[in-house]
Amino acid sequence: MLSTQKHSGEITSRDVEQALGTPAGCYSPEKLLALISPAAEDYLERMAQLAHQLTLQRFGRTVRLYAPLYLSNYCVNGCAYCGFNKDHQFPRIRLTIENALAEADIIAKEGFRDLLLVSSEDRLFVSVDYLCELASKLRPKFSSISVEIYQMATEEYAKLFAAGIEGVTLYQETYDRDTYRKYHHSGPKADYDNRLSAPDSIAQAGMREIGIGVLLGLSDWRLETLALGEHAHYLIKKYWKSHVSFSFPRLRPAKNVDRSQFYFLSDKNLVQMITALRLCFADAGLVLSTRESAALRDHLIEIGITKVSAGSKTSPGGYSQPKNAVEQFEIDDTRSPFEVAEMIKSHGLEPVWKDWDSAFIKG
Ligand code: SF4
Repeated sequence: MLSTQKHSGEITSRDVEQALGTPAGCYSPEKLLALISPAAEDYLERMAQLAHQLTLQRFGRTVRLYAPLYLSNYCVNGCAYCGFNKDHQFPRIRLTIENALAEADIIAKEGFRDLLLVSSEDRLFVSVDYLCELASKLRPKFSSISVEIYQMATEEYAKLFAAGIEGVTLYQETYDRDTYRKYHHSGPKADYDNRLSAPDSIAQAGMREIGIGVLLGLSDWRLETLALGEHAHYLIKKYWKSHVSFSFPRLRPAKNVDRSQFYFLSDKNLVQMITALRLCFADAGLVLSTRESAALRDHLIEIGITKVSAGSKTSPGGYSQPKNAVEQFEIDDTRSPFEVAEMIKSHGLEPVWKDWDSAFIKG
């Protein structure tokens, strides 16, 4: 993958300075390797300043806000890190279209116009038709609808797109095959190669937004970041009509999940990963969820994050009945959407509830 074949531990401060001397926002695997190396930890302040300036140039003083809406926690997969794992025993919930619309009403009343529909792999209930019907009913209230859902075929993504869904987020979870096998032992998601091909299918269906990422905690973050960079570079070159975003989900506590088997990525290295990716990908969206603490999120929106969730519930029905459901994972930043918007303003940035209207792409 890397022409230099250097190990991140062999990178020197000279390599880091050389990388920082290249045009901000341009990618090469050597540059990314240098910026995520242990040697670059001494340059974090400078990297953060450069990332901040570049984000201001490309995105202005804005941070988009979105909310997730969980539709089902029935799942056919056995991902070892997830609270919705099929082997876990708990009362599962599926939202009918009417239930989902009621949840969406609560989200819309909080001011959101950017909605992320989330579901476990529950094709029997959360089918393509279900999603299309739901999207068509949500569109009068939401200017942007995207999904974070099980992997589909290109034709299925195309149906979602035609129904007004413009973006798909789908994490590889880990690019390391052995690690992937270890944590995905059953269900359709256990097929590594199939998973890896999903962003191609999403782009080929014409989706405007492709979100990629790894679950931070499954494998070495530096190797994962290099693979993520290569994957993004490939997608950006091949599918120039789609916009690529990175998300940074760090593993969070979840019911019935033993956390001792996972790595811990420090705040410092998370900051390094985010700034390094910004300095290699000037136009990529950088998305941060409420998995992270309020203090860290406040800091990271200064550096280069372009989109944050707020007031999130990670269980189906969680907005109307917060006490009843099992969450996929615990959130950390529990502030209300209003409080998060005020925090963004206090940094001299503008919280944007809507910056895109799907009407723009209709002929
Ligand atoms: S991560 Fe997704 S696919 Fe895996 S068990 Fe959880 S909900 Fe199911």
